[in-house]
Amino acid sequence: MTQAAQIIVDVPTMQTNRPYTYMIPTDLVDAVVPGVRVSVPFGKGDREVGGMVVGLINIDQDLEHDAVYQGDLKPITRLLDLVPVLNEELLALSDWLAQQTFAFRISTIQTMLPTALKTASHKWLVADQAIDNDELARLFDAQGRLDFTATTLSESQVKALARLQRLGVVHATYQVNNRAQVKTNTWVTSQLNEAQVTEKLASLRANATKQRRVLLALSRQVAPQPLAELLTDARLTRADFTAAAQRGWVKMTEKEVYRDPFAQSEVEQTTSMMLQPDQQQAVTAISQAITANQATTFLLEGVTGSGKTEVYLQSIAKALAQQQTALMLVPEIALTPQMVKRVRGRFGAQVAVLHSGLSAGEKYDEWRRIERHEATVVVGARSAAFAPLDDLGLIIMDEEHETSYKQSDNPRYQARDVLLWRAKWHNAPVILGSATPSLESRARAERGVYRHLMLPKRINQRPLPPVQIIDMREQLKTRQESNFSAALLTALKQRLERGEQSVLMLNRRGFSSFMMCRDCGFVLKCPNCDNTLVLHMDSHTMRCHYCGHEEAIPRRCPNCHSKRISYYGTGTEKVAAELKQLLPTARVIRMDVDTTRRKGMHEKMLAAFGRREADILLGTQMIAKGLDYPDVTLVGVLNADTALGLPDFRASERTFQLLTQVSGRAGRADKAGEVMIQTFNPDHYAIQLAQQQDYERFFRVEMNLRHLGNYPPYFYTALISASDQDENTAAKKMFELADWLKQRLSSSTIILGPTPRPIARIKNRYYYQIFLKYKQEPQLHDALMQILEESQHLRGLQISIDMEPQNFV
Ligand code: ADP
Ligand code: ZN
Ligand code: ZN
Repeated sequence: MTQAAQIIVDVPTMQTNRPYTYMIPTDLVDAVVPGVRVSVPFGKGDREVGGMVVGLINIDQDLEHDAVYQGDLKPITRLLDLVPVLNEELLALSDWLAQQTFAFRISTIQTMLPTALKTASHKWLVADQAIDNDELARLFDAQGRLDFTATTLSESQVKALARLQRLGVVHATYQVNNRAQVKTNTWVTSQLNEAQVTEKLASLRANATKQRRVLLALSRQVAPQPLAELLTDARLTRADFTAAAQRGWVKMTEKEVYRDPFAQSEVEQTTSMMLQPDQQQAVTAISQAITANQATTFLLEGVTGSGKTEVYLQSIAKALAQQQTALMLVPEIALTPQMVKRVRGRFGAQVAVLHSGLSAGEKYDEWRRIERHEATVVVGARSAAFAPLDDLGLIIMDEEHETSYKQSDNPRYQARDVLLWRAKWHNAPVILGSATPSLESRARAERGVYRHLMLPKRINQRPLPPVQIIDMREQLKTRQESNFSAALLTALKQRLERGEQSVLMLNRRGFSSFMMCRDCGFVLKCPNCDNTLVLHMDSHTMRCHYCGHEEAIPRRCPNCHSKRISYYGTGTEKVAAELKQLLPTARVIRMDVDTTRRKGMHEKMLAAFGRREADILLGTQMIAKGLDYPDVTLVGVLNADTALGLPDFRASERTFQLLTQVSGRAGRADKAGEVMIQTFNPDHYAIQLAQQQDYERFFRVEMNLRHLGNYPPYFYTALISASDQDENTAAKKMFELADWLKQRLSSSTIILGPTPRPIARIKNRYYYQIFLKYKQEPQLHDALMQILEESQHLRGLQISIDMEPQNFV
């Protein structure tokens, strides 16, 4: 029997999106198994490319009908792994996911691997223990390392090493070639001694303020320090230190950042709590499914503070007691440090945390701990859905309605679908938890597809805080330009007097500060995209949020040269400035994408607020999540409705979810809380029902509207986008496609478009889209595949398909 390998090559095109058959050289026969990476000659020029072994076939039998002769097969050149990096489950999942999302199989495979494994990297084997075989031991250098990429090994050596790796005597490690993958911090080392600093300070010109600030900063500390720390003085910029380096005052060096910030912080050990009756019912039902190995999906609906987390933790404990593992997804780790803390507090070192803040090396380390069964509980954001846990006993998705669970780039997968697939594979239950479930999930619970568990009460019967709606239209008539209504301002003052804290949220969805000429109405736009440039006071630039284009803030209108330029919209910076005027004594922490871009800044700012170093936390949506501080007694939403006007059928749902979530942040402890929502649409049902915190009513009203509009959950949706540098080409192709689809699909399917995308041009490409709404469409998958295949032959035109899209703007 001669075996050959089926390999997915790392050439992401439609034509190569299928397994290729390769010969296995005799000395690699036992080592080549599904899930190992190899390198193979590919194409006419026999270019070396990477590949993943996805199956083995018996040439003598299986190839007969393939019309391929053994002699035609090329051999595998090199073996890149001794043991599989993807197991059988994940290989099968990658296949399913490629079908589901219309992605190439190689890209779903890559998505599952930690970065260290998918970039071109140098591989080493490291001995963790003494190797008792002399011949093998000699392969390792004095540091116990073997350069696997550069060393040629014999068949028996490969086999023996593979055995050692499986036994945990050696492990593989990767040196990532791509420097960009390595997280670094800039460190600043002073080149001046104290006397020199004093001397330089004395000799500075009076107007050399920047240099003076740098020197003063250096005089405070001689030891090397991170640039980020020096920049906490907002008047200093990176450029100031670069200039100082050019003068020879300091040296700037890049240091790799190693540790997971969460691993360092001390976590307090906790134990199971006595459950409330509703919690007990939920845990009992989930435990039964865990014991019976049933892939039941539970929708755990409970208002903020109803004790969902305790239900998660006790259910995880149940799975662990059964020697199984648990996987928990949270929307975004950086925003939910409390959740990680609580899981770590209960399960300690067996918890692995996967998130985007980790360097490639750190991620690989966590991944390896999971693979080796050292970590049995995984908490992570979207991509952790692929954590290589064996024997899953329970899967949890917290805040299941969050849009961040859907990846917006290729492969466009919804993590919830991945979890449900894995649950079936493992016969494990899934908990979808939320205070405001997505309409899709709630409707499934209604139909009995999911089991509905409810936690209707807050723990200790603590009432939900009263929510007051403030009509800003009235406001506009009197105190025009202000972001603050009189009522909110009074409430803020009260808090200051009482020494209590407030949270202010600015809804930035679909909203920005832009520049407009008051004489001619000119609006400054990005030269590459049809997108308004956003004002950034930090860097004093106008920036495009799509392509990153940046330019100076104009002093005169580029169109009519008028000086009467206004800035519209309310960025957090503008609000912060107004706050300073209105309440000069208030200490304000401003949290938005600009102030939290640097790693660890989220945690730092939240911690500072928790230590009561500020009176007011002002921020964008990001503050709505996971915030839990006892001294916050006032939550103000400055502009509830900016998202309502967006061309997105989920606009009301998102507004309702956000307002409900942020309202839950007030009065979490014994002090009574209060919520104030400023809006220009006080009568809108999403705002009214958020005020009443009435999810059930909202669900009914919104379902009715979705029914009338033929939207999900009554219909499934798909979005086909075409882009081209030439607008006509994109439009013409899409009109052809729409006609073709009309003939091909059933008459009950609704085809909308083609229309230009709301932001029609991005990075100099024009976008057109067709939106499909369908109930039952057995032809759809084939039709869409055909569209993709044919588009391969069209030069310049790019087509993408997004099933159940979440983002329309
Ligand atoms: P949710 O996740 O639904 O927002 P939490 O799990 O954060 O709610 O619970 C809110 C608060 O109630 C937390 O401080 C938690 O420690 C506490 N809590 C939860 N369950 C219990 C219980 N059974 N007995 C006492 N306190 C509880
Ligand atoms: Zn742009
Ligand atoms: Zn003008």
